[in-house]
Amino acid sequence: MSLLIAVLLPVIILLVAQYRSLAGLEGKTRAAVQENLRQTLQSFTCLVVKKAEALATETLGGIDPADVEEERFDRIADRLSAIRQSHPEADLAFVVIHCSCRKKNFAIFATPEGIRRIDHDHFKQAPEVQSAIETYNNAALLSAAPVPGRKTLFDAIETYDKAALLSAAAVPGRKALFEQSHCSIFPGAKIEPSSVFIFTPVNKVDGEGQIGFAGMTLKSRYIREQLLPQAMGELLRGAGDDSAPVISVLDENDREVYSSGSGLARHEVRLPFIPVLRQWKMGIGYRNTTIEALARSQFRQNLLLIGVAISLLIAGLILALRATTREMKLVEAKTTFVSNVSHELKTPLSLIRLFAETLELGRVRNPEEAQEYFRIINRESRRLTRLINNILDFSKIEAGRRQYQFAETDVAEVVTEVLQSYERQMTNAGFEAQTSIQPDLPPALIDREAMAQAVLNLVDNAIRYSDQAKRIEVSVRLRGGDIAIEVADQGVGIPKAEHQRIFEKFYRVSTGLVHDTKGSGLGLAIVKHIVEAHHGLVTVESAPGKGSRFTILLPSVRSEAPEAAPESLSPDAALGAHTSGAASTASMGGYSVAENPHH
Ligand code: ADP
Repeated sequence: MSLLIAVLLPVIILLVAQYRSLAGLEGKTRAAVQENLRQTLQSFTCLVVKKAEALATETLGGIDPADVEEERFDRIADRLSAIRQSHPEADLAFVVIHCSCRKKNFAIFATPEGIRRIDHDHFKQAPEVQSAIETYNNAALLSAAPVPGRKTLFDAIETYDKAALLSAAAVPGRKALFEQSHCSIFPGAKIEPSSVFIFTPVNKVDGEGQIGFAGMTLKSRYIREQLLPQAMGELLRGAGDDSAPVISVLDENDREVYSSGSGLARHEVRLPFIPVLRQWKMGIGYRNTTIEALARSQFRQNLLLIGVAISLLIAGLILALRATTREMKLVEAKTTFVSNVSHELKTPLSLIRLFAETLELGRVRNPEEAQEYFRIINRESRRLTRLINNILDFSKIEAGRRQYQFAETDVAEVVTEVLQSYERQMTNAGFEAQTSIQPDLPPALIDREAMAQAVLNLVDNAIRYSDQAKRIEVSVRLRGGDIAIEVADQGVGIPKAEHQRIFEKFYRVSTGLVHDTKGSGLGLAIVKHIVEAHHGLVTVESAPGKGSRFTILLPSVRSEAPEAAPESLSPDAALGAHTSGAASTASMGGYSVAENPHH
């Protein structure tokens, strides 16, 4: 019991600890998955930026600063028209040069309506120039790096002054700036009101300083149908299975303008689409499931695994515990066996010695007394022989060296011989034995010696475990094709719970009606082994205080002999005096032995 607590307590503590760490893990899993999704969105943004930058380099990068510096307006206009023609996604392409370092600033716009050039003097009256400069400034502002320690872009916008942002935007190597604006550069023109602007700075020929910027607007259809799907294709390359998250893009009115897949359960993470589409948002989530559901199923799976592991652990511990207990019991039984056997050996030896010495010294008063002493010596030496035989037999059985010589034998004859050899002992102990043997029994294939030993062990037990009622019944009959040898007594009986165990080696009953009979605990183990070697069966019917009936069932060689009348096998019925109708009994001394016609 204490061993069980010592095992169960750590297991329970382990279980609770595992459960708690799993619950903690569930929360962490949720945060980790969310972070993962956030990073996926950032990667998506990077891809979109890269594509837009590549587009800017390919188109606006073609404007030659030398043409700008030398004011070759026709060449610049041609370049802008070419951009619009080769890139139908561009609504508008323009160059705005406005630098205090220059005498003459200008702006050129290529629109669906044609080319328009505005000189510096008219900048103030040209809303498109104002809008372009404003939008560019915003884009520069948005692209500025945030102040260290300040987290959001809006912080940066609050703290940076425009000039600083402009100079930041002019950093060489910056590929493109972006802005998504609600207002149109040309209020009257057929240009989408919510446009995406891409700008590249126009630097001096020598690369020393910025003198203006070039820009273009992108149609939102191109963004929806090409830019976003292409970036998504690159993002999902290699992943492309059903478990990949779904990204959707929402416009300023929260309408979905693009989605990488269907069945999005909900947005687990939402971010503004900065910098390219800052008026829009993007969201990411899973198809038909949520982070909670994923974390929960992960939690359940882990819990199940831990449950299985702990169950196996407990089962293993229980098995180990049972094996240990059995081993301990066996050790205990062996110890008892040694003390019992020493006692069993000592008693007959001292009796033999005592009476032999008395006889040797001629201290007997009359021949009857001498006769009595011889009888005791004889009885005790038989007892010794039986005990030693059992021990030797047992050690042979244990070593797997017990060999049997089977031969067709009359079982009744063997049983009768055993009883005859035991006759005097029974009579002296005041026992009355009733034997009933069915005539014309078929022979059985048995080892005569071994079977005699098995029967002897049963008869000996019947005598040793009888109390006041000194009555023993032995019968040999045919039962269902088998030969049944029954040995019944009216002794102390055996509790039902012990019926299986009494056939185990060294096992002795210590519950129920307590008896003080000494023994080795080997007798029945040997009976069982012998009977099973004969492909037979040994059974017991017994109840405390009501006696016991042991039955050996042996397969017969032929079973043409007539069957005995069936009878009840209940322990109570077994205890009544039994005489088979087919058998005749004759009294022999203190007990009766069947007169079998064979013998
Ligand atoms: P032993 O008799 O030497 O103890 P056995 O193997 O012959 O060993 O018997 C095992 C146990 O079964 C005995 O200790 C006894 O408690 C019980 N037993 C065997 N035969 C009988 C019987 N006829 N009546 C009551 N108890 C019996």
